[in-house]
Amino acid sequence: MGSIPGFKMNEIIQREGIGMTSLRTRRRLVERLRQDGIESNKVLTAIQNTPRHLFIDQALAHKAYEDTALPIGQNQTISQPFVVALMTELLFQASIPVNKVLEVGTGCGYQTAILSQLVKWVFTIERIGSLQQQARERLPELGYRNVSYLNGDGFDGWVSNQPFDGILVAAAPVEVPEKLLGQLADGGRMIIPVGDGAKQDLRIVTKSASGYLEEIRSGVRFVPMLNGRKI
Ligand code: SAH
Repeated sequence: MGSIPGFKMNEIIQREGIGMTSLRTRRRLVERLRQDGIESNKVLTAIQNTPRHLFIDQALAHKAYEDTALPIGQNQTISQPFVVALMTELLFQASIPVNKVLEVGTGCGYQTAILSQLVKWVFTIERIGSLQQQARERLPELGYRNVSYLNGDGFDGWVSNQPFDGILVAAAPVEVPEKLLGQLADGGRMIIPVGDGAKQDLRIVTKSASGYLEEIRSGVRFVPMLNGRKI
């Protein structure tokens, strides 16, 4: 086992995992994602390197590397790895370099951790303060430090840090929020599930000089995007 500077041995064991949380188990997940159509090696590498078992309750840790969403409390879920991988891959298919990303719906911070390994700066908004607090503590502990956090309403975006090269939304509104569109850089993309509880489409909206181009991939299921902020 290689040593990681700044970590004690028991922290290294926890991070690298054993049994159902081991590197071998993670590799199996990555192989499955590849078979299911994820092509980006840098996205797959980030998934392989991210200890998803540390983002969920210990009692569920044995399921961490199955390709499913899992509950994280407060009626919210950690996204399915395939969906995280797909959205991240789509984000990087933009025609501009993607350095600065806005994430809406921090949740437990798993998607944030993936993005943090692939871009210079992640700005993440979560409406439930107590949920975001756990991510604020967990992510720096695990070495993901290029992240700014806001307990706020993602419908407003993050005005003082716009424009963003990419915007990734992890909760589903019934239509694409106008304010978020306005915070995209030219050439940037927003990846967002749109629809009501039963039926959502994943939309890929690209901003260009002549307007917005929208592509649709169907068949995703996210928690609803709700107005307002909670402590
Ligand atoms: N990104 C997470 C998944 C989060 S689930 C992962 O990696 O697993 C979606 C999250 O979006 C929930 O935590 C929910 O509270 C949050 N959310 C819903 N509506 C929101 C809004 N308007 N602004 C910010 N966050 C919102």
